[in-house]
Amino acid sequence: MATVTQDDVLSVLKRIAAPDGRGNVVSAGLVSGIAIQGGTVMFALTASPQHVKTMEALRAAVEKAVLGIKGVDKAVVALTAERSPQQGGQPQPQGQRGSGIAGIRHLIAVASGKGGVGKSTTAVNLALALTSLGLKVAVLDADVYGPSIPKLFGLNGKPEPSDAAGKKMKPMTRYGVEVMSIGFLVPEDTPMIWRGPMVMSALTQLLRETEWSGADVMVIDMPPGTGDVQLTLAQQTPLSGAVIVSTPQDLALIDARKGLNMFAKVNVPVIGIVENMSYFTCGKCGERHEIFGHGGAKEEAERIGVPFLGEIPLDTEVRRRSDSGEPIVATLPDALHTALYRDVARQVWARLEGGKLGRPAPRIVVDDQ
Ligand code: ADP
Repeated sequence: MATVTQDDVLSVLKRIAAPDGRGNVVSAGLVSGIAIQGGTVMFALTASPQHVKTMEALRAAVEKAVLGIKGVDKAVVALTAERSPQQGGQPQPQGQRGSGIAGIRHLIAVASGKGGVGKSTTAVNLALALTSLGLKVAVLDADVYGPSIPKLFGLNGKPEPSDAAGKKMKPMTRYGVEVMSIGFLVPEDTPMIWRGPMVMSALTQLLRETEWSGADVMVIDMPPGTGDVQLTLAQQTPLSGAVIVSTPQDLALIDARKGLNMFAKVNVPVIGIVENMSYFTCGKCGERHEIFGHGGAKEEAERIGVPFLGEIPLDTEVRRRSDSGEPIVATLPDALHTALYRDVARQVWARLEGGKLGRPAPRIVVDDQ
């Protein structure tokens, strides 16, 4: 098989014009972080978050051109955003739309049909990947039954009150992301017995009584499953949409479909499905093992008309870094998984801002009787 080199990639990219007549995408400095692993080529294309929508066509064209190079069988081109110096760490300009919660533009739920599929891992890495696109991101851990977000972010201690009256709490911050979790407030290993209404009021408090400093996207790690608590949560939180995490075999067992149905019931658009633990590439033999079967999520997504956002392979590094509070996207920026999560994030943001989401307009029936 032909070995792909960085020069092969650059020479193809140099033939693609940059927007605004600024020469080609390479000379305009839009291409960065080219990584080549076998037949997989990954790199970033810089865009301002406001222009993600228009850049999508360019991104697709660039990806197609790279796929045309002999020896390339996969191209992952992530749109990344460069912060302008004036913006610093401030929130991106807020548009007319918003979540109704001060300073938070979009709330998205990360959900799964059952536990253990990697929902929290996906939520955290998706949040960090959104941050790497230049967006301001917050994470709310709504998984009250097993709050794992503090551990995944390597955070402990208690949130401080934001004022002398102690009315609000300051979120914790790690890797540039503001985080709030019930896990900060309740000692670890304390068995928690939650009834539905208690869950709702605890979460409403965490959401509304935290002094968030604004966010383009708040990622909510939902409790696993599709019971009444999840349904109420989906209904009572002003969600822009939901991302469903599933393993390949889980889709075959219709757990993820239950998740889709739940959001359909409460009119929350499903942004798409992420297939986690898709396959495992053996470090020793280099072969790809499809432990749980593969492609189930993609086929199912196509069949039911829900966007497929990508597949995240099983990887010991993902697990190891999650366990030690150093999520892969924050700590291994050049890893394949980081590129894959960023690709998911780019699609999520494009769909949030692309105007394709939104609750369906009511059907108007003209009754001329
Ligand atoms: P959930 O929130 O669905 O219960 P978690 O995110 O806690 O699931 O993940 C369950 C376990 O699987 C964790 O130990 C996590 O580190 C591991 N895990 C999740 N995704 C992957 C992956 N792609 N590769 C390897 N391990 C993973």
